[in-house]
Amino acid sequence: MPLLKGTKIYSILANKCPRCHEGDFFQTHNPYDLRNFDKLHDRCQHCNENFTREPGFYIGSMYISYALSTALTVVTFVLFVVLLGFDELRVLYVLLPAFVFLLPVSFRTARLIWINIFVRYNRQKARNNKPDVVRL
Ligand SMILES: [Zn+2]
Repeated sequence: MPLLKGTKIYSILANKCPRCHEGDFFQTHNPYDLRNFDKLHDRCQHCNENFTREPGFYIGSMYISYALSTALTVVTFVLFVVLLGFDELRVLYVLLPAFVFLLPVSFRTARLIWINIFVRYNRQKARNNKPDVVRL
Protein backbone atom coordinates (compact mmCIF):
# COMPACT_ATOMS: atom_id res chain seq x y z
CA MET A 1 0.00 0.00 0.00
CA PRO A 2 2.84 2.48 -0.57
CA LEU A 3 0.64 4.50 -2.97
CA LEU A 4 -1.72 5.40 -0.13
CA LYS A 5 1.04 6.50 2.24
CA GLY A 6 0.36 10.02 3.45
CA THR A 7 -3.41 9.49 3.43
CA LYS A 8 -5.63 8.72 6.39
CA ILE A 9 -6.79 5.55 4.60
CA TYR A 10 -3.23 4.20 4.81
CA SER A 11 -3.02 4.80 8.55
CA ILE A 12 -6.44 3.17 9.12
CA LEU A 13 -5.91 0.11 6.91
CA ALA A 14 -2.25 -0.52 7.75
CA ASN A 15 -2.49 0.00 11.55
CA LYS A 16 -0.01 2.88 11.43
CA CYS A 17 0.56 6.01 13.49
CA PRO A 18 -1.61 8.85 12.11
CA ARG A 19 1.26 11.37 12.48
CA CYS A 20 4.20 9.62 10.78
CA HIS A 21 2.66 6.49 9.14
CA GLU A 22 5.72 4.53 10.28
CA GLY A 23 5.12 3.16 13.79
CA ASP A 24 2.37 0.68 14.58
CA PHE A 25 -0.77 1.88 16.39
CA PHE A 26 -1.94 -1.44 17.87
CA GLN A 27 0.58 -3.83 19.40
CA THR A 28 -0.53 -6.72 17.17
CA HIS A 29 -1.56 -6.73 13.51
CA ASN A 30 -3.92 -9.67 14.09
CA PRO A 31 -7.42 -8.53 15.17
CA TYR A 32 -8.22 -12.13 16.19
CA ASP A 33 -5.40 -12.32 18.74
CA LEU A 34 -8.14 -12.03 21.35
CA ARG A 35 -5.82 -11.41 24.30
CA ASN A 36 -4.09 -8.44 22.66
CA PHE A 37 -6.30 -7.14 19.82
CA ASP A 38 -7.31 -4.04 21.82
CA LYS A 39 -3.87 -3.12 23.18
CA LEU A 40 -2.33 -0.06 21.58
CA HIS A 41 1.11 1.40 22.13
CA ASP A 42 1.23 4.32 24.57
CA ARG A 43 3.40 6.25 22.13
CA CYS A 44 4.55 5.81 18.54
CA GLN A 45 7.88 3.97 18.37
CA HIS A 46 8.94 6.17 15.44
CA CYS A 47 7.82 9.77 16.22
CA ASN A 48 6.73 9.53 19.87
CA GLU A 49 3.14 10.64 19.12
CA ASN A 50 0.96 10.10 22.20
CA PHE A 51 -1.75 7.52 21.41
CA THR A 52 -3.31 7.59 24.88
CA ARG A 53 -4.11 11.29 24.67
CA GLU A 54 -6.43 11.61 27.69
CA PRO A 55 -8.68 9.36 29.78
CA GLY A 56 -11.81 8.51 27.82
CA PHE A 57 -10.45 9.77 24.50
CA TYR A 58 -11.60 6.68 22.63
CA ILE A 59 -15.18 6.76 23.93
CA GLY A 60 -16.02 8.79 20.84
CA SER A 61 -14.86 5.90 18.66
CA MET A 62 -18.02 4.03 19.72
CA TYR A 63 -19.99 6.38 17.48
CA ILE A 64 -17.70 5.48 14.59
CA SER A 65 -18.15 1.78 15.34
CA TYR A 66 -21.93 2.25 15.45
CA ALA A 67 -21.90 4.07 12.12
CA LEU A 68 -19.72 1.36 10.51
CA SER A 69 -22.01 -1.43 11.76
CA THR A 70 -25.15 0.39 10.65
CA ALA A 71 -23.73 1.09 7.19
CA LEU A 72 -22.64 -2.53 6.79
CA THR A 73 -26.08 -3.77 7.89
CA VAL A 74 -27.94 -1.49 5.50
CA VAL A 75 -25.69 -2.28 2.54
CA THR A 76 -25.80 -6.04 3.17
CA PHE A 77 -29.55 -6.03 3.75
CA VAL A 78 -30.28 -4.02 0.61
CA LEU A 79 -27.92 -6.18 -1.46
CA PHE A 80 -29.29 -9.54 -0.39
CA VAL A 81 -32.97 -8.78 0.31
CA VAL A 82 -33.86 -6.02 -2.14
CA LEU A 83 -31.54 -6.74 -5.06
CA LEU A 84 -31.04 -10.53 -4.85
CA GLY A 85 -34.41 -11.45 -3.32
CA PHE A 86 -33.22 -13.49 -0.31
CA ASP A 87 -35.54 -14.09 2.66
CA GLU A 88 -35.14 -11.31 5.32
CA LEU A 89 -35.01 -13.72 8.27
CA ARG A 90 -32.28 -15.86 6.69
CA VAL A 91 -30.20 -12.78 5.99
CA LEU A 92 -30.53 -11.74 9.65
CA TYR A 93 -29.47 -15.23 10.81
CA VAL A 94 -26.25 -14.79 8.83
CA LEU A 95 -25.74 -11.11 9.68
CA LEU A 96 -25.87 -11.44 13.47
CA PRO A 97 -23.04 -13.99 13.84
CA ALA A 98 -21.09 -12.09 11.18
CA PHE A 99 -21.22 -8.96 13.36
CA VAL A 100 -19.95 -10.85 16.38
CA PHE A 101 -17.14 -12.26 14.25
CA LEU A 102 -16.27 -8.80 12.90
CA LEU A 103 -16.32 -7.11 16.32
CA PRO A 104 -12.51 -6.99 16.79
CA VAL A 105 -12.04 -5.56 13.29
CA SER A 106 -14.76 -2.97 13.86
CA PHE A 107 -13.29 -2.01 17.25
CA ARG A 108 -9.82 -1.43 15.83
CA THR A 109 -11.01 0.35 12.70
CA ALA A 110 -13.19 2.71 14.75
CA ARG A 111 -10.26 3.66 17.02
CA LEU A 112 -7.96 4.26 14.06
CA ILE A 113 -10.59 6.42 12.34
CA TRP A 114 -11.18 8.33 15.58
CA ILE A 115 -7.52 9.24 16.15
CA ASN A 116 -7.13 10.08 12.45
CA ILE A 117 -9.86 12.71 12.88
CA PHE A 118 -7.68 14.56 15.40
CA VAL A 119 -4.13 13.87 14.18
CA ARG A 120 -2.77 14.92 10.77
CA TYR A 121 0.00 13.28 8.79
CA ASN A 122 3.29 15.14 9.08
CA ARG A 123 5.93 14.29 6.49
CA GLN A 124 8.69 15.75 8.67
CA LYS A 125 7.79 13.30 11.44
CA ALA A 126 7.99 10.42 8.97
CA ARG A 127 11.58 11.34 8.03
CA ASN A 128 12.85 12.45 11.40
CA ASN A 129 12.33 9.84 14.04
CA LYS A 130 13.63 11.97 16.87
CA PRO A 131 10.84 12.73 19.34
CA ASP A 132 9.85 16.31 20.10
CA VAL A 133 12.00 17.85 22.80
CA VAL A 134 9.98 18.61 25.89
CA ARG A 135 11.19 21.75 27.65
CA LEU A 136 10.21 22.27 31.24
ZN1 LIG B 1 4.45 8.08 14.59
